[in-house]
Amino acid sequence: MTVADNLAEMKQIIQHACKNCERNPDDITIIGVTKYVSIERAREALKAGVKNLGENRREGFLEKYEAIGSDAAWHFIGSLQSRKVKDIINEVDYIHSLDRKSLAKEIQKRADKTVPCFVQVNVSGEDSKHGLDPAEVEDFIHSLKGYDKIKIVGLMTMAPHIDKEEELRAVFRKLRALRDIIRDQKLDHAPCEWLSMGMSNDYKLAIEEGATHIRVGSSLVG
Ligand SMILES: *Cc1c(COP(=O)(O)O)cnc(C)c1O
Repeated sequence: MTVADNLAEMKQIIQHACKNCERNPDDITIIGVTKYVSIERAREALKAGVKNLGENRREGFLEKYEAIGSDAAWHFIGSLQSRKVKDIINEVDYIHSLDRKSLAKEIQKRADKTVPCFVQVNVSGEDSKHGLDPAEVEDFIHSLKGYDKIKIVGLMTMAPHIDKEEELRAVFRKLRALRDIIRDQKLDHAPCEWLSMGMSNDYKLAIEEGATHIRVGSSLVG
């Protein structure tokens, strides 16, 4: 399948999901996750109209970025080791995986300009998942006041690999409720309006539960 074919199909599903919950499809940002595919395929995605691309590792990101550059908006979606921050922080447009103070400190030290960041939350509590415990998120975000290189634009989560619809919805709802609490505080450094949630297998549910950014790899470019 071409990316254009996949994208057309995805847009139909998004439209349908948006209808179910009275949302505007234009409010959903599709991030094409290119970690499994070649530079050529990433270029094809861009040409098909996928303007936001995501990578989860430093090496993969730099390889694609060197070839494609700022024609795309780049989302760094993987867990990020502090020592690698300096290699990517001034090239990426968004970080989806801010989950600890040491990482925030390194971003503050290395970034030339303010970087929009999502705070990653481990909603499901699985050991294998990165991210903050939901109970820690509010204090963590408050503690970033004064970090002028970081703007908290939203929250991010990875749902567990299950296909029980109600359990998935519960994860997405919990992230949304947390987002609402923080957004409603109207913090200057943390407008926190966005929700990065939903992948190839669950983006339709995530949209129905309020996702503003979906991260899709295998079903779009893979
Ligand atoms: C790989 C990855 C995705 C995309 O996964 P698919 O199931 O291929 O859509 C989304 N988010 C993160 C953090 C990833 O690492």
